[in-house]
Amino acid sequence: MQQGEVQIFTGSPLGVLFLWHVFNFLALKKFNNLTEIQSEISAGALNCEALVKYYLKNIEQQKELNAFLEVYQEEALQEANRIDQKLKDGTAGRLAGMVVALKDVLCHEGHELSCSSKMLKGFQSQFTAPAVQRLLAEDAIVIGRVACDEFAMGSSNENSAFGPVRNAADLNKVPGGSSGGSAVAVQADCCLLSLGSDTGGSVRQPAAFTGTIGFKPTYSRISRYGLVAYASSFDTIGIISRSIEDNALVLEIIAGYEEQDSTVSRKEVPAYSTQLSEEGRVKKIGLIRETMESEGLNEEVKAKTLEKIDALKAQGHQVETVEFSLLDYILPTYYILTTAEASSNLSRYDGVKFGYRSPNGTDLESMYKKSRSEGFGEEVKRRIMLGTFVLSASYYDAYYTKAQKVRRLVKDQVDQLLSEFDFLLMPTTPTTAFAIGEHSEDPLEMYLADIYTVLANVCGLPAISIPNGEDKDGMPIGLQIVGGAFKEADLYAFSKKLLPA
Ligand code: GLN
Repeated sequence: MQQGEVQIFTGSPLGVLFLWHVFNFLALKKFNNLTEIQSEISAGALNCEALVKYYLKNIEQQKELNAFLEVYQEEALQEANRIDQKLKDGTAGRLAGMVVALKDVLCHEGHELSCSSKMLKGFQSQFTAPAVQRLLAEDAIVIGRVACDEFAMGSSNENSAFGPVRNAADLNKVPGGSSGGSAVAVQADCCLLSLGSDTGGSVRQPAAFTGTIGFKPTYSRISRYGLVAYASSFDTIGIISRSIEDNALVLEIIAGYEEQDSTVSRKEVPAYSTQLSEEGRVKKIGLIRETMESEGLNEEVKAKTLEKIDALKAQGHQVETVEFSLLDYILPTYYILTTAEASSNLSRYDGVKFGYRSPNGTDLESMYKKSRSEGFGEEVKRRIMLGTFVLSASYYDAYYTKAQKVRRLVKDQVDQLLSEFDFLLMPTTPTTAFAIGEHSEDPLEMYLADIYTVLANVCGLPAISIPNGEDKDGMPIGLQIVGGAFKEADLYAFSKKLLPA
């Protein structure tokens, strides 16, 4: 085109309209899944470099969210160029074009890892977690490290040593926690997918609060090596995404045996991403009565859950209300056992081997005490003390042993339900995202945010939170589906049908 032609083209009303559309398309474009991105790449309309720049711009323009602790600008661009070359050569991996963020509890060699705590400030990972390694091996690009509640303890992301993360739907509200940064990064279109960790709901609860999809697999499905331990018999790595397809593909890639984690399952990993459209038979779904009748359940969340149930029934599925008398015992069981495990796991941060060391110690013991007192935040200290208390000789049987027994009873009851039903269904959270500061004075109120999510962790089961509309203020609502052990494929396929096409 000659210069004159450009002038004629842009000068005509039609030309202006055309350019206006192109501009809007480029400015507003959001990628909803990897397939969209990869097909634009193969059509020559996009490359990884442009994609990374797009996300970097979104991160830069939304700094007030405080989701990223670190953005790997140069490294991500270098990786993008390397993968663009591989795409040209036809040697790119399955995740070429996927830009991800990592929760600040996952080891990534040569990168800082702080667990959003002052205790580990400046610490660098010495190796890469296999889950992260497998993403990188398939050419995913890590764009940054995202904030969380300190050592993954919390339900609002207010317990980070680096300030609260904000919900992109309303900056005065929390994004949920502990993987709040992971959820907001996806919600605000700062990456396509993120990894988080889920010990009692930390992937599903923030997903519900941000309108994203949060998946927690069966305990032991993904190696925990390189995931900083909070409560080892509950911890799982989880995946937050915009689409079921991406979530399933990533699980397929990161799950499976690996020799460093003695608890990881040796079960073969199904190709989840290719089993999404399997023609499902009619499903039997259990609706736990106590979850729908619980006192703290918000009316709008309840109404949306019931609407979904009506829709399921209309599709021919069987939904039955079931009793689950132990619901009230799950939270105390969870908080006794996880604090006990945490008090043991966190004993390694003593100011000697790595991380923060207080300059105020006068002898060995005061160095330990001061390093831990100054390095950890309030909530982490509360849990270490609670955990130490329930493990102490005089109270061990009254709390720890009893909670272990209740855990077994809960698991037996839930396994029984799942032998009769394909899935258990409930809201992910009793309310939508609450205001920053609303619950920070009252830990018990905060713990209630986990009332529906801890069940899956107490029993080691896979569970997903999918978006289920919004409340009258436009805050997202989540629906949770819990499946039988290692039934990830069924959960994905069923959830996909519940989401708008
Ligand atoms: N909110 C729960 C807790 O504080 C869950 C945390 C998590 O899953 N990491 O323990």
